Amino acid sequence: MGLKNLLVIGLVVWVGLMLWRRWQAATRRPREDAYGGRMVRCEECGVYLPATEAVQRRPDHYTCASHPPQPRA
Ligand SMILES: [Zn+2]
Repeated sequence: MGLKNLLVIGLVVWVGLMLWRRWQAATRRPREDAYGGRMVRCEECGVYLPATEAVQRRPDHYTCASHPPQPRA
């Protein structure tokens, strides 16, 4: 195996790595967008969290899932 073959193999591996990284970035981005698409504010502690993880007490009123449910008067 000559030096030229080694260079060609190295180039192929490098191009493969670049394509792999690009493919990973392309497949990861939509998932992150869907996850963090909508942020809501917790009424109890003021922390912002994804709407998918929040607990909706009333329309447009959210809290963290860790807070105990408020007793209804
Ligand atoms: Zn909270």
